Amino acid sequence: MSRTAEIIKETEKYSAHNYLPLPVVLSKGEGVWVWDVEGNRYFDMLSSYSAVNQGHRHPALLKAVREQIDRITLTSRAFHNDKMGEFLKYLCQIAKLDKALPMNTGAEAVETAIKAARKWGYLKKKVKKDKAEIIVCENNFHGRTTTIVGFSSEFQYRDGFGPFTPGFVQIPYNDPSALKRAITKNTVGFLVEPVQAEGGVIVPKGGYLKETYEICKKNNVLFIADEIQTGFGRTGKLFCVDWEGVKPDILIVGKSLGGGLYPVSAILSRDDIMDVFQPGDHGSTFAGNPLAAAIGLAALRVTIEENLAKNSKEMGDYFMGELKNIESPHIKEVRGKGLLIGVEIKSSSETARPFCEHLKEEGILLKETHEQIVRFAPPLTVTRGEIDWALPRIKKVLCE
Ligand SMILES: *Cc1c(COP(=O)(O)O)cnc(C)c1O
Repeated sequence: MSRTAEIIKETEKYSAHNYLPLPVVLSKGEGVWVWDVEGNRYFDMLSSYSAVNQGHRHPALLKAVREQIDRITLTSRAFHNDKMGEFLKYLCQIAKLDKALPMNTGAEAVETAIKAARKWGYLKKKVKKDKAEIIVCENNFHGRTTTIVGFSSEFQYRDGFGPFTPGFVQIPYNDPSALKRAITKNTVGFLVEPVQAEGGVIVPKGGYLKETYEICKKNNVLFIADEIQTGFGRTGKLFCVDWEGVKPDILIVGKSLGGGLYPVSAILSRDDIMDVFQPGDHGSTFAGNPLAAAIGLAALRVTIEENLAKNSKEMGDYFMGELKNIESPHIKEVRGKGLLIGVEIKSSSETARPFCEHLKEEGILLKETHEQIVRFAPPLTVTRGEIDWALPRIKKVLCE
């Protein structure tokens, strides 16, 4: 049995089967490249769902980790540490918001945003006790906790996991008038992804964010942007809301904030909203720990100093243009923003999965999202030469 087969067999025996990975066992990574245990090299076009925007094992991130683990790694929030403030200051400066509340995973940050919006609703908007409503979009993806899957429109995400938290209202995505109609006196927030990445790289029409933001303003409803996947340059701007000049009331970030090394997430907001949290209201043992803060700070510095948003825009435009030029009987549509690109496979062809399996054989790793969409999301450090390496291989598989 090959080393790959052996490891997969052992893993499958001892791991819950809540994933169906491609049959490749990775053991090394650098930049956009990863290697499997057999020594084969692959181009990572998934970037761990955009958590590795800076590329694998970025030297500045490795240096930050090494320095920090030689000092202190975990303090809990029972005490101050000398890293968290510096990290949050930089995060607030680049997001142009007053305060941040650090967490670990994306789902925790979404939960934190929900708590902030509800408490703001009761304290500031004077919504009656336990009546707060948050409006969400169909086809959303905000994480996997029970509250969050409770307002998912994906049957599988919910099936078998009820009963669910009340207080969420679903409206169609990309439809500002639906938001207008759904708002009541109890509405405290509108939670939205600027591009629905997991939902199949669904890019709303131009002006959607601005228009829904203004509807929120007019009705004293918080505009809550989930930029966990779209943030930090993925769509060609530092934040995807920057495309329309929108400044969210609550901004949710995660994934590449941890630079591919460690889970680091946060919500950012204005003082008048963040002030609803009092000592004891919310917390997490690991959130804001000095190792996470050192990594988050280094991840942000790489993002800003290497101008990853600009590279994402330039490389994204080039890559998407070339993908659009591929003449394949299987492609229904190529769409995206920056380096978040979806290729929708016609339902008359195969599903997206076999295309991903064939691309693996060609040395390119990616993952389908929903049945028919192949998502291309390389690290934002990607070069033109690396894209040119991948293009003929992608073309070959998509035209077979
Ligand atoms: C990945 C993701 C989440 C959840 O993040 P986890 O770290 O997996 O909990 C939430 N929202 C969006 C838009 C995401 O892409």
